Amino acid sequence: MIRFEQVNKKYHDKNALVNTNFHLRRGDMAFLTGHSGAGKSTLLKLIMLMERPSSGKVIVDRQDLSQLKRTQVPAHRRKIGLVFQNHQLLMDYSVFDNVALPLKISGYNERDSGRRVRAALDKVGLLEKERLLPQVLSSGEQQRVGIARAIVNKPKLILADEPTGNLDPALSTEIMRLFQQFNQVGVSVLIASHDLGLIQRLPHPVIQLDQGRISGPPSVMRQ
Ligand code: ADP
Repeated sequence: MIRFEQVNKKYHDKNALVNTNFHLRRGDMAFLTGHSGAGKSTLLKLIMLMERPSSGKVIVDRQDLSQLKRTQVPAHRRKIGLVFQNHQLLMDYSVFDNVALPLKISGYNERDSGRRVRAALDKVGLLEKERLLPQVLSSGEQQRVGIARAIVNKPKLILADEPTGNLDPALSTEIMRLFQQFNQVGVSVLIASHDLGLIQRLPHPVIQLDQGRISGPPSVMRQ
């Protein structure tokens, strides 16, 4: 699903990623870990085409991203559901309208959109809260709305950047269980996190970044 071949990323003189190689197979779930500044967000941005590599190749869903035309970028991004630490919900929109936003942008009609939003809310256990504003929800529930919004377009790949950063251990476990459920129905999942306690309890491979280089013990993810 994702392949990095000898990827380097420099911001001015700063090396953010150095000779990065890894392969996340279709349908796999993995963690991306490393200290602050190790290059995790940069790696996710390259997958989203929010940044371009200085050299090397990024391949997503069999597509070499350097070959994509500007007009193909929105379709590429629709394959990917993004989950953030601070969920970035619109606080004056209802839960329903927050989740419906990506569908509105994609031009869905109201009936199809309603059906999909409710299916997404059902998957994260928030169907009965669709009319509420995010501020009356708990932080775990707000994060679940963020996840519903990420999966409402039925993406092939979920990318999450510190999705449990603001949550206590019990809620973090619950959120990870949700990602595992999506993974079990075939969605590929890559989660950037430095919650080592949580990662070590789960049976998924770990890509470890250290100052822009993949390090640590040999991982099944490395080529
Ligand atoms: P992480 O997500 O692991 O904290 P980042 O990918 O955000 O790491 O950052 C990797 C390195 O690249 C850091 O040294 C950071 O300061 C630098 N960096 C990230 N984005 C930029 C940018 N837009 N301009 C300059 N340097 C950047």
